[in-house]
Amino acid sequence: MNCLFCKIIEGSIPSTPVYQDELSYAFADIHPQAPVHVLVVPRQHIASMADCSEEDRALLGHLLWVAAKIARDKGLVKGYRAVLNTGEDGGQTVDHLHVHLVGGRPLAWPPG
Ligand code: AMP
Ligand code: ZN
Repeated sequence: MNCLFCKIIEGSIPSTPVYQDELSYAFADIHPQAPVHVLVVPRQHIASMADCSEEDRALLGHLLWVAAKIARDKGLVKGYRAVLNTGEDGGQTVDHLHVHLVGGRPLAWPPG
């Protein structure tokens, strides 16, 4: 499958690892939008949040748990944001489910 994040997970495209376990891989975003900008992805290819089935409920929770763990490990005690851009209107550009963990500076709301 011609999927950028699948290639990153298998190692054929380099990345800067932040965390990994049997279900997920987390790596630094190549265009960081804040001092901390990490992508948490499932090892299994799922195109987007909209493509998750009932079977994926625990995996979705796991990805959020990983984001919270990384935030703790990085000392984001003042807060952070976890974002799942989904589909065209959601601004998703890579069709492999991913959680953005963004923090280390105050973040504006609402997003664009
Ligand atoms: P989204 O727009 O929500 O689909 O997010 C895709 C993210 O992937 C963007 O923040 C990109 O900067 C990031 N990205 C694209 N290519 C790479 C790469 N090779 N390594 C790390 N992050 C990447
Ligand atoms: Zn993929």
